Amino acid sequence: TAVLRLDGVEVRYGSTTALAGVDLTVDAGERVAVVGPSGAGKSTLLALANGSVTPTAGSVQVFGVPAGQLHGRALRRLRARVGTVHQHLELVDQLRVVHNVNAGRLSRWPAWRAAWSLARPQGLPEVLEALTRVGLADRVFDRTDQLSGGQQQRVAVARLLVQRPDLVLADEPASALDPLLADRVLGLLAEPAADRGGALVASLHDPALALRHCTRVVGLVEGRVELDAPAGRLTLGD
Ligand code: ADP
Ligand code: ADP
Repeated sequence: TAVLRLDGVEVRYGSTTALAGVDLTVDAGERVAVVGPSGAGKSTLLALANGSVTPTAGSVQVFGVPAGQLHGRALRRLRARVGTVHQHLELVDQLRVVHNVNAGRLSRWPAWRAAWSLARPQGLPEVLEALTRVGLADRVFDRTDQLSGGQQQRVAVARLLVQRPDLVLADEPASALDPLLADRVLGLLAEPAADRGGALVASLHDPALALRHCTRVVGLVEGRVELDAPAGRLTLGD
């Protein structure tokens, strides 16, 4: 089964049509870059895939399950498999970095077990390992709001690594990073697609980054898919 499948999806916000007639199937192992101008619907597409937006028409399936029809334990289990780096990161500024990253561990588990894990130190090595991979091991006990925008972006990536999702959704995950760190972060986000039969769907405004790390490029213009091509067939001129 496909990791993600959108059939005839339309999303309207009042009188604004964010997406119209979108059909898209993402299979295991694919790394999809979603590109397009601001307002084209990229964030909305990612939000559909993690269930934070429901379509006004059409259907969305994640791992073969219709999104929006799950409740309780089944919904939590699906959510644990989907990791998101939000455009606005959604970190808790007043908490220390360690707590924000640990939140990724908690989303893997049922609520009772998550609460229990707060009282136990076992998570720290895993949190430290993830922070090392994004180059922030020395900031583990800093307050999150003391970090720069680019560092906070990497904290959000570390939180996702610790969650170990199968489907990674990332909204401009490298927008505040220099080229070297951007490459490192994209490589990390692509791991579930490469190693675990998952997939990556990332909105990226840097075409070179998209071509280096993704297998497929989907271009949105005014809510419609205007380009859908293997990355290998595109060049920077396109
Ligand atoms: P993007 O760069 O993806 O367009 P924005 O910064 O425009 O993101 O939007 C940030 C947030 O505001 C998103 O959660 C989006 O859903 C919401 N948003 C965007 N446009 C509007 C709007 N016209 N009215 C209300 N909310 C909006
Ligand atoms: P992108 O990520 O490509 O910039 P978005 O998905 O954020 O595009 O937005 C697509 C369109 O939907 C834009 O016109 C935006 O203003 C509008 N939009 C997004 N979120 C909202 C919202 N919560 N309420 C109203 N309009 C929105």
